[in-house]
Amino acid sequence: MITRHEVSTGRRCQMVDITPAVSYAVHSAGIEEGMCVVYCPHTTAGVRINEGADPDVAADILAHLEKLVPASGGYKHAEGNADAHIKSTLVGSSVTVIVENGHPALGTWQKIFFCEFDGPRQRKVIISVR
Ligand code: ZN
Repeated sequence: MITRHEVSTGRRCQMVDITPAVSYAVHSAGIEEGMCVVYCPHTTAGVRINEGADPDVAADILAHLEKLVPASGGYKHAEGNADAHIKSTLVGSSVTVIVENGHPALGTWQKIFFCEFDGPRQRKVIISVR
């Protein structure tokens, strides 16, 4: 089962917790065991799993990605968002989560984040459960 989920981002760089949407997609698929792929079809955003309990973790990730890949850095790509393309590449465009007992088998502190690097924008993620 494939579902699409809309994500509205409010800042240029932002990590949005999309775990509830993924859990909903898994429940809607009605399977007990399987795999869930969460895919980001954008070149300046990504999807990643990390700690969701302390919001400072996401803040640190974004702050240090900015140190690694600053917004202006003498890039060749003339559109002005070269850093966003590079950050998207570092983060990755999909995650796979095991479905166990009808739920995503996430660790206690894990959340699934949509990672925006060129917002604010209206984005989408594609969720496949099988
Ligand atoms: Zn670009």
